[in-house]
Amino acid sequence: MDYDYDALARADLRARFAERPLNMWRYAELLPLAGEPAVGRAVGGTPLLPAPRLGARLGVDQVWIKNDAVCHPTLSFKDRVVSLSISVAVGFGFDHIACASTGNLANAVAAGAAALGLKATIFIPRTLEGAKIVATQVYGARVIAIDGTYDDVNRLCAEAADRYRWAFVNVNLRPYYAEGSKTYALEIADQLGWRLPDHVVAPMAGGSLVAKIDKSWSELAKLGLIEERARPTRIHGAQPVGCSPIADAVIAGRELIVPVKEPRTIARSLAIGNPADGFYAARAIRQSGGSAAAVTDAEIVAAMRLLAETEGVFTETAGGVTVAAAQRLVAQGAIQRDESLVLCITGQGLKTTDPLLAELPRPPVIGPRLSELAAIV
Ligand SMILES: *Cc1c(COP(=O)(O)O)cnc(C)c1O
Repeated sequence: MDYDYDALARADLRARFAERPLNMWRYAELLPLAGEPAVGRAVGGTPLLPAPRLGARLGVDQVWIKNDAVCHPTLSFKDRVVSLSISVAVGFGFDHIACASTGNLANAVAAGAAALGLKATIFIPRTLEGAKIVATQVYGARVIAIDGTYDDVNRLCAEAADRYRWAFVNVNLRPYYAEGSKTYALEIADQLGWRLPDHVVAPMAGGSLVAKIDKSWSELAKLGLIEERARPTRIHGAQPVGCSPIADAVIAGRELIVPVKEPRTIARSLAIGNPADGFYAARAIRQSGGSAAAVTDAEIVAAMRLLAETEGVFTETAGGVTVAAAQRLVAQGAIQRDESLVLCITGQGLKTTDPLLAELPRPPVIGPRLSELAAIV
């Protein structure tokens, strides 16, 4: 999706952006929506937190967390893509919104449709976390669980999109959905004072977010809104070992993305075996001089705890994948101590508590007596 970059380069975009509240619509000129959003007016504008205590543990001096675990209203970066694609869908005259989801998209579509009184039908793999199903059904959406992988769900949705006049945000409206991801990276640049970090580590499912981080920063450079860097920001992609088709291709140095037939990972939000934008994500990583990492379930849980214990940020399994991948990349020397690093935290920990329940001790139970307290502290 292209914009009139020549005209935009002549506009004083930084000044225009600065006049608007910090949320995803601040960057309206770089989004494919004419006029006001129909839904999600306050979406985005999430904190970019300095993370010195995590940085000390990683061995990197300057670390920030872009925290979409607190993105309004459904606590993941999917609220961005959904606000844009539903707003576009309404303009096209759709009254029924649908999607194929690994969880967070389901939550965001259901909430967005509810806020406009639209019908919603959500397709998920049957193995989805209970919290993500509850946080979809509560909005009154029809949820249909498919006995199969996400790729099976997606294939069914592609067929259903031909049959029913529904707006599938990540199928027939996918180009709009994908552009919404850009706002996450535009905010990072804005919040760093229109400078970019040396490194960014982002989780990958379909690969859209990573591809759009690259696109949004290229657009800012093209428009003269950020300084030319001597060396481009290295974009690193993170996936769980049980489903790492993009990371594997990057690590092996091949262009071909080999689909994973049966994903097996606690990071269910990233469990897309045949990633729609895998090629573009891998290319963006390669061209930036970045790399990739695939991390184990145990590393993911440990990294979720590390982030929570050092910075007070509770992220879902996908965020654990990001932090664990950063640890790996530092150990490999791909990220150096004196370089700056942004970690993409894209979802909320309260949605994926199961892997932690097995790890954390049960709290001791005592009677309300000081003597009993004294016996254990
Ligand atoms: C969907 C999702 C991603 C990755 O998205 P893609 O653009 O498909 O790569 C990352 N983190 C979370 C929490 C997600 O829900």
